[in-house]
Amino acid sequence: MATDTRPTAVTTASTLSSERLTALADGAVGGSDEPIDVTAPATTERIGRVPAAAAGDVARAVEAARESSAGSAWADRPARERAAVLDRFADRVTENRAELLDLLQLETGKSRRTAAEEILEVPMACQYLVGNGPAVMADERRAAAIPGLTTATVTYDPVGVVGVISPWNYPMTLAAADVLPALLAGNGVVLKPDEKTPYTALALAELLEAAGLPEGVLTVVTGRGEPAGPALVDHVDHVAFTGSTETGRAVAARAGRNLIDCSLELGGNNPLVVLADADLETAARGAVQACFSNAGQLCLSAERLYVVESVYDAFLEAFVRETDRLTLGTAYDYDADVGSLIDAAQLDRVRSHVDDARDRGATVETGGQHRPDVAPYCFEPTVLTGVEPDATVACTETFGPVVSVTPVADADAAVTAANDSPYGLNASVWCGDTAHGEAVARRIECGTVCVNDGILSGWGARDAPMGGVGDSGIGRRHGPEGIRRFLEPWTVSVSRVGPFTFPDRIPTGWIVSGSLAAASTVRHVSRNARAVTRRVKQAVTDRRRPRE
Ligand code: NAD
Repeated sequence: MATDTRPTAVTTASTLSSERLTALADGAVGGSDEPIDVTAPATTERIGRVPAAAAGDVARAVEAARESSAGSAWADRPARERAAVLDRFADRVTENRAELLDLLQLETGKSRRTAAEEILEVPMACQYLVGNGPAVMADERRAAAIPGLTTATVTYDPVGVVGVISPWNYPMTLAAADVLPALLAGNGVVLKPDEKTPYTALALAELLEAAGLPEGVLTVVTGRGEPAGPALVDHVDHVAFTGSTETGRAVAARAGRNLIDCSLELGGNNPLVVLADADLETAARGAVQACFSNAGQLCLSAERLYVVESVYDAFLEAFVRETDRLTLGTAYDYDADVGSLIDAAQLDRVRSHVDDARDRGATVETGGQHRPDVAPYCFEPTVLTGVEPDATVACTETFGPVVSVTPVADADAAVTAANDSPYGLNASVWCGDTAHGEAVARRIECGTVCVNDGILSGWGARDAPMGGVGDSGIGRRHGPEGIRRFLEPWTVSVSRVGPFTFPDRIPTGWIVSGSLAAASTVRHVSRNARAVTRRVKQAVTDRRRPRE
């Protein structure tokens, strides 16, 4: 009798088969390099093979995306028509969630609970884009040079072809976060997913086509970081990159040489601050979610916890207790909280950060162990205390389930510690008095800071920009900013009185002094008007304030 040699990682997923994975791989652009073996982190089995695009393949893919966009007149369709494709895509994601969940788990080793976050998130992203995108892209009247005599109108066109380079940790969410607004803006898109997680990207493209996206407007190029990544940057009109700070720098340098714009969503070493008046049980539960979702392989994850001294012991006790409650597993069910790390390199990185902290005198309050009994790359959620400020885990991003907890004197000291980092992506403040918490949040130098929530209230605020400063990147996704980065603004200005030149009959000196005097009068009047408005607003507020 023949032995079934198909990988168990595939056969145990109820919706997947080797044939289905091969059919998905057929949707990728052909590659001239040695094909890429894709592995299931949960078992280390090879689950399939995808083409590896060489530089020439990528160049041809970009050209084809350009031609398909032009041929289908994608950019010329009304914005509402393009939005309708995204609307239908959200339905397709919902209908196909079982297979998408299986695929996400298969190629990342994440728990099903974490995979479900991606499936819930993408239709929400579509909802925002469909509801708000067309207005963001509409023509705008801007303040004219000389009101009444001239006009200024801004129109927005797609930049052309957008290259999206996406990472392995949230292969659906993070590809969609760039691909969907770029398509909505009327661009052609070439998506290069991480070589470890190509199948989800291929499924996403398939579902977009099923939703009515013209063939070829979105192309998936599967390829190794090099040469496929740099080749993409060399041929597209904008590159949207999500990944490590190191690669992000290389992408930015190349984009700079090519004089194309780029948006970079990079790493983080995110702080979480617990103030003295926080509800400690809520803060502990929230911190566990903020630290260990997707086994900490989340750019927005908290890795440095600063707790005001007076509540440090009580918070630590609750946080360790809640961390110990987390369950580990990679099965295709909703039982486990935390799944596997992505590969052996990530496991080595996590282990080395814990060992380094321990060697410098840190205490492992819980976790700290590799758990091959659960999955080959599984590592326990780990809480460290007594971490030296120059320990690797304190200064750099671990991107794994390892966090440090440090006492600080007060809110000011917490802000100083939180800001002592080259990164600036995400942070959270836990408190009782939310007005004070918000004031503290405003002093933390991160693109997004949540109060009494770790991540989701910030990420889920679709209308608000999201992104990092410093080593965490350039540009913003979400909100109007997340759409406009994929558009070229053009200004058309009309003069109703012909050209503005110095008239011949009046001495130029008079014109210069007259114009400057007029401008000064306008500034003076505006200043006074603003002061009056301020006083009126203050009077209204005072009248509304309840009497003592
Ligand atoms: P990485 O930079 O190695 O890879 C990311 C992507 O870049 C992959 O598709 C890869 O193939 C491609 N790539 C590799 N070399 C390239 C090159 N020279 N030119 C162009 N593209 C190239 O990232 P990683 O280490 O696999 O991913 C983890 C990192 O991503 C973490 O640092 C994490 O913080 C970051 N990340 C950030 C966000 C965010 O939104 N800020 C989200 C997820 C992950």
